[in-house]
Amino acid sequence: MLAADRIAQTLSRHGLRHTPVRWAVLLVMMESNFALSIGDIEQLLPPDTDRITVYRTLKSFEESGLIHRVIDASDIIRYATCSIECSAQAHFDNHVHFKCTCCQHIYCLNQVAIPVVTLPDKFEAVSRDYLLAGVCRECQPT
Ligand SMILES: [Zn+2]
Ligand SMILES: [Zn+2]
Repeated sequence: MLAADRIAQTLSRHGLRHTPVRWAVLLVMMESNFALSIGDIEQLLPPDTDRITVYRTLKSFEESGLIHRVIDASDIIRYATCSIECSAQAHFDNHVHFKCTCCQHIYCLNQVAIPVVTLPDKFEAVSRDYLLAGVCRECQPT
């Protein structure tokens, strides 16, 4: 499917109006193989893009289930696109994240599910982040 069709469909499915900034941010995120910080996203957008609009766009994307946060030990918040089933009501992102210690990129390993953990009595988890560190495919010596 063409990127433009995917973007149009994704925005419509989540009930978001099509605006130039939403369109541009979603394109940048869909084309990236790894999670992007707000700074990364801004660098990939046209230079005249309004910063506040970018922040608002990311907020509405996160609330609508288009993107999710990718957390690591740094205080930089990165975002990645969600799987197609995600919505504002339910995030189905149950995958492992992988941080490369070489290129510093954090990847969503969508095909690798977070292992089931058994919690002690009276502990109830509401969120989960599973981050592995190592060397990614791009950085492996050939
Ligand atoms: Zn790497
Ligand atoms: Zn992810």
